[in-house]
Amino acid sequence: MAGMIDSTYRMVVMQPTNYCNANCSYCYLPNRRDTAHMQPAVAQAIARDIEEQGEPVTVLWHSGEPTSVGTRVMRQLLDPFENGRGQGLVRHHIQTNATLIGDGWCRLFDEYAFEIGVSLDGPAWLCTERVNWAGRPIHAQAVEGIRRLMDAGLNPYAICVVPPSSTGRGVELLTYFDDLGLEAVAFNLEASLGISTTRSVPADEAARRFWTDVLTWCRAHPDRIRVRELLQAAAFVQRTMDKPREPMPTVGRDGTVVLASPELAGLRAPVYNDFRAGNVLEEPLTAIIGRQHELGYIAEFEKGLEACRATCGFWEFCHGGFAAMRYAEHGRMDTTRTQWCTAARIELARALADQLDGDTTSRTAQAFIPLMERTS
Ligand code: SF4
Repeated sequence: MAGMIDSTYRMVVMQPTNYCNANCSYCYLPNRRDTAHMQPAVAQAIARDIEEQGEPVTVLWHSGEPTSVGTRVMRQLLDPFENGRGQGLVRHHIQTNATLIGDGWCRLFDEYAFEIGVSLDGPAWLCTERVNWAGRPIHAQAVEGIRRLMDAGLNPYAICVVPPSSTGRGVELLTYFDDLGLEAVAFNLEASLGISTTRSVPADEAARRFWTDVLTWCRAHPDRIRVRELLQAAAFVQRTMDKPREPMPTVGRDGTVVLASPELAGLRAPVYNDFRAGNVLEEPLTAIIGRQHELGYIAEFEKGLEACRATCGFWEFCHGGFAAMRYAEHGRMDTTRTQWCTAARIELARALADQLDGDTTSRTAQAFIPLMERTS
């Protein structure tokens, strides 16, 4: 069964802290009032490992609000990566709520050439679930943070969670983000995840309608805001065809490594030893990933991936989705279909196939013809 998951990594998630200054009602992250932050030794261990691996890696600072550690601590965590960045081996990426962005952060993002994703769920009246610990909305602060980033010449994109109540608002959301001046948006259809397992996921028809509205708008406005899922979809199908999937390591602030899904980090699951794969202060990340197949939850996940590949016509498009969604919905990893993969992958693929029906010449259609053949 070994071989479904790669033994090298091209992305690593770094959790500089679990703390978040926001308390969004759908958040899946446990311990998000814990203000402790990562020590430079953890960053040094990962930076060393990336250089030894010798392959370009995206370092994604995420999970908790990374900017809550302040720019001084963040610089201490970034500096170990400078040698690798100089060799073209490191590219920094951050997911932030943008409420703490000031000139210091703009300078830091520019200096270390960050790609910046800002969590924002649309206009203020649609963002009522994004609140601080006092229960007050954080929308205005987030928009102010986005404006500061754009004024500094940086180019953030939006990461928008789409709950069932927003699936009829695809065009409204796109217009809002386009009017803000953003060049791209990523839509995350709401999922059952982490400690947030009681939320409802968009129904199949609602998800299909959402993606159809998004696709129709994008085709009618080719020079306006871009949608990450559509940009990535064609490239993803071609890039991942018959290749092992990413091990997706997440490194906690104390050096603990969790594999397969960042959303598994910090969860209590005694049967899976809380998904812990090792600690980078004790052994290199590549060594931890190298013996991943000995972990019970990874072995189980690989069985699920094998089952997906054998039974699901959307495999090339999805490559098995995320382990955390399987665990949240089924309580185990060796399963296949989830509500999330239907809403976020299958209905997007079907909407794409519908849109491209009869189109066999455009680049998008060319990329999707194998998929359309499988799903028709
Ligand atoms: S769409 Fe669902 S069932 Fe199909 S490959 Fe992806 S995770 Fe597996």
